[in-house]
Amino acid sequence: MKIAILPGDGIGTEIVAEAGKVVERLRRDGLPIETETAPIGGAGYDAARQPLPEATLAIAQRADAILLGAVGGPKYETLPRQLRPEQGLLAIRKALGLFANLRPALLYPELVSSSSLKPEVVSGLDIMIVRELTGDIYFGAPRGRRVNATGDAEGFDTMLYSEPEIRRIARFGFEVARKRKRRLCSVDKANVLDTSILWREVVTAVAKDYADVELSHMYVDNAAMQLVRNPKQFDVIVTGNMFGDILSDEASMLAGSIGMLPSASLDANNKGLYEPIHGSAPDIAGQNKANPLATILSLAMMFRYTFTRADVADRIEAAVRKVLADGMRTADIASAGEGVTGTRQMGDAVVAALS
Ligand code: NAD
Repeated sequence: MKIAILPGDGIGTEIVAEAGKVVERLRRDGLPIETETAPIGGAGYDAARQPLPEATLAIAQRADAILLGAVGGPKYETLPRQLRPEQGLLAIRKALGLFANLRPALLYPELVSSSSLKPEVVSGLDIMIVRELTGDIYFGAPRGRRVNATGDAEGFDTMLYSEPEIRRIARFGFEVARKRKRRLCSVDKANVLDTSILWREVVTAVAKDYADVELSHMYVDNAAMQLVRNPKQFDVIVTGNMFGDILSDEASMLAGSIGMLPSASLDANNKGLYEPIHGSAPDIAGQNKANPLATILSLAMMFRYTFTRADVADRIEAAVRKVLADGMRTADIASAGEGVTGTRQMGDAVVAALS
């Protein structure tokens, strides 16, 4: 089990250190884990003038799975776009062919009061969002700026999906739904966009191979509304890169804090990059305040999806549930009057709960 560890910037180093304690504990328990650590994002720029240094990409390529913290920070905001930390993320996803992004929005019963919605609307929430990650308007060409015939500046991007790209993510969505409640909702904007009309046709065609999964379609504006109106109607949502970007952030707030939510980005062979959904949180970096649970839960997803060791994933998730049940709370998930735990103490508690 070769894991590349890319802490990144800001709280990335702190939360990955806590996940590292879990890795160390599992190794001592006999799992054959090897790790290599490398810089990415702003740290990559500091080390090698590149947000994704070649040496880092090489380490990620020879690993079976990658654990990433977060990238970005005020120090790097004035760099030209191609050197900005986020480019390191886009580049590694593209280089490794990580086309399927899995984002669970799961509400732990202990955290019902942290959700922005009423307990009766969200308790028991368990949604999986499958977002396509390597296509769509974020990558389509042409893009750029120009001056039009009347002398006004214009900015333009191209929303683009090919049939094989849609088929690949649709199959992925159906497979995930098969392992859950067998309900898949495909989200698009087929009333307006040609890209979405093709998307809907292809998803509908793929559904013929998955008669055991109930498929529905929803326009993205309605999906955004339904997620706050009645989120428990969803089991698995499959959608394109941009719609998925927005809906998964919306869904994350239903689950309380973004400090709780892991993600996985997988290639066709289940090699994956695992990371919390949040960013580098410069406002709390270096203060022992960050919640490390999203990163630790990302590690659990790694064992579930890349190493197909559901037993190890279950064990890590059970340890997280135990520390929550014991009342441990970092500031982001603490309700008024609850005591607050630091990043390192939370990591130590999870390791203790593993035994
Ligand atoms: P952010 O996710 O870093 O922070 C948003 C808010 O949530 C902040 O108040 C922060 O303190 C809090 N927060 C985030 N993670 C937390 C955790 N684990 N525990 C407790 N609180 C937490 O988003 P932002 O402030 O918009 O962006 C900050 C930097 O992160 C920017 O440079 C941005 O580009 C980058 N970013 C990176 C990623 C990534 O690496 N995948 C994702 C989003 C943003």
